[in-house]
Amino acid sequence: MRSCGCIIIGGGPSGFMAAFKAAEAGKEVIVLEKNKKPLKKLYATGNGKCNFTNENMSEAAFNKNAENIVKYALERFSYKDTIAFFKGLGIETYNREGYIYPKSEEAASVANALVREAKKRKIKIKCDSAVLDIEFKDKGKVKGYIVYTDDETYFTKYLVIATGGLASPVHGSTGDGFRMLSELGVKSGYLSPALCPVELDLSKKLLKLWDGVRFRGDIKLNKMDASENGALTCLCSAEGEMVLTKYGISGIPVFEVSRHIENFEGDMSGKEKPCHNDEYVLYIDFCKDLDKTYLESYISNILNNYPDEKTEFLLNGLVNQKLAYFMFKYLGIDENKVLKDVTEAEINNLLKALTCFEVKVLQTLGFDRAQVTHGGVELSEINLETLELNNCPNLFVTGELVDVDGICGGYNLQWAWSSGYMAGNAIVEKIQKEK
Ligand SMILES: Cc1cc2nc3c(=O)[nH]c(=O)nc-3n(C[C@H](O)[C@H](O)[C@H](O)COP(=O)(O)OP(=O)(O)OC[C@H]3O[C@@H](n4cnc5c(N)ncnc54)[C@H](O)[C@@H]3O)c2cc1C
Repeated sequence: MRSCGCIIIGGGPSGFMAAFKAAEAGKEVIVLEKNKKPLKKLYATGNGKCNFTNENMSEAAFNKNAENIVKYALERFSYKDTIAFFKGLGIETYNREGYIYPKSEEAASVANALVREAKKRKIKIKCDSAVLDIEFKDKGKVKGYIVYTDDETYFTKYLVIATGGLASPVHGSTGDGFRMLSELGVKSGYLSPALCPVELDLSKKLLKLWDGVRFRGDIKLNKMDASENGALTCLCSAEGEMVLTKYGISGIPVFEVSRHIENFEGDMSGKEKPCHNDEYVLYIDFCKDLDKTYLESYISNILNNYPDEKTEFLLNGLVNQKLAYFMFKYLGIDENKVLKDVTEAEINNLLKALTCFEVKVLQTLGFDRAQVTHGGVELSEINLETLELNNCPNLFVTGELVDVDGICGGYNLQWAWSSGYMAGNAIVEKIQKEK
């Protein structure tokens, strides 16, 4: 069995940050990563550009129950610390409406900088090394964790589990951390996909018509209350650029509302299954910047100016033509008839569909397409100021594994950096006290 000062399981952003900080105590630090190379998910972040923090960072951007833990973490390692840290590694930044990216606009440059720095700090990153199990060993003076991989067994006093959640398993996060921790008696709550595209209840034929259309609009997610005759409660709303797809709708505003759609549940083995039968309804405003009276006058002008022209171009210049065709088909308006034959009822339906398009949600696209996991290791299991587990001495959890998830915009990576820093720092303080 190989002994080591500190082991980090998972070579993702939070694992790297924990390793950097822990290494300051001067003991050997090994990161065990199951993929062939570390930071696989980081390469995919921000559409390959890596939106690694946000200047509007605040605990309000995360799940409500995580307010305190996020507050402590941001006090220890803020978004400004993140920017300064990466500047020290040679990563200059640019700021797009508060979203911070590397100036190179390449996630790979952030990953390369982290790997280069790990080498400098003499941190060993051992790839192709999936941790299969961990075991607590308490034999009088010797207390610590046995860490089993395929080819080697380790013993360490300080252990950080940074294995991520269940989102985007193709990048390595398949829920191993939840399973290993549950074997130690640590509870993880309800796990569901968040920051995820959404499937809508429309026919394939209709969806094909709007596939690929981008628009700036707003959406409202409502939940149907079966016990109250289908009464709708608005859960949340979001606005910004979205894209209509052949399955439904995607884009940052959709990602933001998706965490409230509880139709999949993950289990410890990384599998997901449908859960709850709640029904959700989405309202889409395709013309959010135009008020209803203006839209009415816009349409009546076109009707008056071109009464003998075909209906197909009634919305020409207002919305994308593919979306216009979709609307005509959806509402059963014959786009070949002349405008003077369009009825008042058809105009009213069109106005409603443009500003308050009502459609049932089928489901989110699940963990495969989610960017983060909603839920995780329960916060009641954790010392909120150090991220040490209450019932497992010297065992820390970081990143997406913990019940913390933020909105789009660099918030989740900031949590990864801050939580990694917090855990690493707590290890340094413990080692210093031992001396
Ligand atoms: C497509 C996509 C785009 C995103 N874009 C952004 C963005 O622009 N900004 C933002 O803030 N967030 C973004 N996120 C979210 C962000 O990437 C995550 O929140 C973050 O990577 C979590 O870091 P982590 O260290 O907790 O876990 P992960 O990044 O998931 O890393 C965990 C690591 O642990 C390894 N591991 C798992 N099990 C084991 C095991 N048994 N043994 C050894 N190793 C193991 C995995 O292989 C993985 O490398 C995005 C996510 C996705 C999927």
